[in-house]
Amino acid sequence: MLAIGIGCSSSAAPPSFAAEQSRENAPASPVRLILFIADGAGIGYWSALWSTREPAVAQFPIVGLMRSGNTSSNRPESASAATALAIGMRTFYSGIGVGPDSLPRPSVIDVAEVAGLATGIVTTAQLIDATPAAFAAHTSDRYAYPQIAHEMANHGIEVLFGDGQGVLEADPRFGDGYNVIRNPARLRELPVDTLSNVLGLFNTLNVSAEDRDPSLATMTGAALEILDRDPDGFFLLVETEQTDERGHDNAPFDVIAAEMAHFDEAIRRALDYQAAHPETLIVVAADHETGGFAVFPDDDDVLTGSYTTLGHTAELVPVFAIGPGAEVFGGVQTDAAIGQHLIEHVRPR
Ligand SMILES: [Zn+2]
Repeated sequence: MLAIGIGCSSSAAPPSFAAEQSRENAPASPVRLILFIADGAGIGYWSALWSTREPAVAQFPIVGLMRSGNTSSNRPESASAATALAIGMRTFYSGIGVGPDSLPRPSVIDVAEVAGLATGIVTTAQLIDATPAAFAAHTSDRYAYPQIAHEMANHGIEVLFGDGQGVLEADPRFGDGYNVIRNPARLRELPVDTLSNVLGLFNTLNVSAEDRDPSLATMTGAALEILDRDPDGFFLLVETEQTDERGHDNAPFDVIAAEMAHFDEAIRRALDYQAAHPETLIVVAADHETGGFAVFPDDDDVLTGSYTTLGHTAELVPVFAIGPGAEVFGGVQTDAAIGQHLIEHVRPR
């Protein structure tokens, strides 16, 4: 957690994981981990992106394939899929930060906080939606918004940027202890040298990639500026949601390519940060694939896309990693194994 800054609230980690920050536990060099999740983005999505530009992940030396899953069925579902990445254990449909026995398990954010790291969540989804919730809350019901909001707001997470819909309705005190910003322009003029505990409630969900303001890249850059101030390091989750939504819509090829380009810009921002801070590990993954989206040339040899379903598929999804510790993310493994590697990276040592 940040040791300095204004407007710091007292940190209230979930009861079973609460621990005093101990400088004795602080690592000698900062631990910096950025996890990107492109919701629903499988190989087809990356192929669409690369038909328009070379993606930032082309620079990543480690590539793996991940098998999504849960204990309920063969069809991946967003809450349980995000939970597998967050806690390193598979769970049932709708499970948020809980194991198959419904008991809360520490997420990578919980473990990072115990290690004294700063933490942040950046998403184009509603902040209390399933993917961010799986990292910051613990409940068997992904739609238990008041509980999810309460846990997320009282977690001690230094940066929360996302779509604000329903957040204050779920918990009117969500912004207590935070510097709340709603105007995207303010993200570009943040007094980051004095600011911590920033809650950004924006309108990012129901907006096209071209019109999204703030962009995922802008939010990622601002979050990194703030989190960079913690000498112990940080864990940052960056999620894009619309890849999944447009997959469910079976949206045209160009729309998928534009959403992936929007995501790609945020990864570029993280690579820029890593260039100045080489100890940073960046992992890019998905929770599952949506739509069975495949890319192929049409009769005029123009690349286009086609879908096999309106729902989620059981396709393997790619994982890319760069930075110290990246090697463990290569190869073929489950989502739960990826989650365990994430936790291991931020664990107090
Ligand atoms: Zn979905």
